[in-house]
Amino acid sequence: MTSAATDTMPIAAQVAATFGIGRLRGLLPQHVDAGQPTVVAILEAAGELANAVLMPLNRVADEMGCRIENGRVLTATGHRDAWRLFTSQGWTTLDQSEEFGGQDLPTIVAVACQEVFDRACPAFGMLPLSQRAAARLLVAHADEEMRTEWLPQLVSGTWGATICISETGAGSDVGRIRTIATPQADGTWSIDGEKIWISFGDHDLTERIGHCLLARTPGAPPGAAGLSLFLVPDTLIQSNDGVIRNAIVVRRIEDKLGLHGSPTCVLEFGGAQGKLIGTLHRGLSQLFAMIATMRLGVATQGLAVAAGAAEVALAYAEERLQGGNPDAPPVPIAAHADVQRMLLGMVSRVEVVRGLVMALAVQIDLARYERDERSRQECEALSQWLLPIAKTFDGEAAVEVSSEAIQVLGGAGYVNDWPVGQALRDARVFTIYEGTSGMQAHDLLHRRLWRDQGRGLEAFLKVARAEVSLQATSLVAESRSLDVALSLLADAASHLAKWVEQPVRADAVATHFLKLSAYAATGWIALRLAGTTGYDAATRRLAAAGRYWLSDLSYKATLEHALVLHGSDRLGWFEDIRAVPRCRL
Ligand SMILES: Cc1cc2nc3c(=O)[nH]c(=O)nc-3n(C[C@H](O)[C@H](O)[C@H](O)COP(=O)(O)OP(=O)(O)OC[C@H]3O[C@@H](n4cnc5c(N)ncnc54)[C@H](O)[C@@H]3O)c2cc1C
Repeated sequence: MTSAATDTMPIAAQVAATFGIGRLRGLLPQHVDAGQPTVVAILEAAGELANAVLMPLNRVADEMGCRIENGRVLTATGHRDAWRLFTSQGWTTLDQSEEFGGQDLPTIVAVACQEVFDRACPAFGMLPLSQRAAARLLVAHADEEMRTEWLPQLVSGTWGATICISETGAGSDVGRIRTIATPQADGTWSIDGEKIWISFGDHDLTERIGHCLLARTPGAPPGAAGLSLFLVPDTLIQSNDGVIRNAIVVRRIEDKLGLHGSPTCVLEFGGAQGKLIGTLHRGLSQLFAMIATMRLGVATQGLAVAAGAAEVALAYAEERLQGGNPDAPPVPIAAHADVQRMLLGMVSRVEVVRGLVMALAVQIDLARYERDERSRQECEALSQWLLPIAKTFDGEAAVEVSSEAIQVLGGAGYVNDWPVGQALRDARVFTIYEGTSGMQAHDLLHRRLWRDQGRGLEAFLKVARAEVSLQATSLVAESRSLDVALSLLADAASHLAKWVEQPVRADAVATHFLKLSAYAATGWIALRLAGTTGYDAATRRLAAAGRYWLSDLSYKATLEHALVLHGSDRLGWFEDIRAVPRCRL
């Protein structure tokens, strides 16, 4: 068995239940049809492609990986055909601007489809994600000429794109980038340096690849403020329409734990020609138009892999017969209380992270479509608050749920007959790339809580408390559980305010603050799910998942709150640990 075929019904049910979806539908331009029947039809079509084409590719790409031949990267057997089908069916165009060949659909539709595709083959999804995010970047910051040349090709999937940041000395610390961009007489820039770990840095799927690359220009200030952003194509189109290679060499493909179908490349730029995107020295802040989409995409990858692993575990637990009365035939392991505990934990986690990523997607679109400025700003603040939380919590969900799925399958989960081992390997990077969990916690504390003066937290508490008031009489225990988490979060935030002048103390507990924020955010989603009514299977599942998630939420939130208040003193023991001689690396 390679994977569990995706049933899109639970995903469609969540779209219908998402906070703000009704309001968003009312605000969309008239030509955009994002009504529920359309969403259901789109998801069914996505499911057909995912089950028929991407699911079989998942195992093949994992086993074959990618290779370099004659200096170019070749993807696994079947990847090119899958890509051709994917683009010919228009899946790269969903939430892109109509002006450039897109369908103008809201982000939530693209996110819901991404879940379907990534569940079948997360490595395949790496290319459309960076492509979609690059298109967002160019719409926001490119000049007319660059937009006209690149956007229709990116939107159609004829050309691909990368996010090209990392270097040997510049991982989380982007300000240490050393790649140099030197101005040329013809207005272009000459790029010199080495970029590492570039996903789909080279491949055989698209006709052309554009690297969205951060570099330092001569005389630029040190640190992140001195970085500028360039579009560096792998090929240059000449005035006679001839095509030549740009000065970029693929040094190697990384040998890595998972996502083998996605080539992670070391690229050397030796005087490659590039063009400036936007304004000099504003590179990093402009790139956030791409990074935000990538982070939402990683959150969705996390959801997708967690959802796939949970479904395999559920199906397996009904079929595997073990235990029960020795005088009778063995029972399905799903009959055992401890297995039910694991399955409930996994499924409820999947449903709340799905609700979280979808609520975030809707807020992103409302920040664009809301008519009055104040509402727009509130949606913007709420989406910025939820983004690092969803990136981290959904990424962690993939790791933890796939690990738990292995536990449910027992020995069968550890051997490669079942896809849960690959799920765990593929998922492990979700909490690392696009900003590690530690850096997301730092972002939530320093930017969202302190620099933005808690505007996002305020917007979140407002909507979450409104939900508590709404459900307080019908879901008494569940509402109380969320109410406790919200009070603890507000208290932790005011406690941290005391440490603005001693950020090291606060940094020591930033991860616990993010976890507490994540419990509060998922508690809000869970209460909404618990309140869904209806007798169809999808609705009953949502309500059960919400209630289960809330059943121990206040305990988890209490622990994280206590750890925030505990502060940094216990880190003093680190000096004793580092005093012991270390292994040689
Ligand atoms: C499969 C894969 C695909 C990738 N794709 C791309 C891509 O397409 N484009 C691209 O540009 N990059 C890509 N990357 C790189 C990725 O974004 C980086 O790995 C990530 O940003 C972390 O950087 P690092 O690995 O150097 O870790 P480091 O920065 O060395 O961090 C190591 C640890 O130290 C912690 N740490 C570091 N600094 C701080 C600090 N100031 N405060 C607190 N904690 C800190 C981190 O949280 C982490 O736990 C990819 C990586 C992988 C593995």
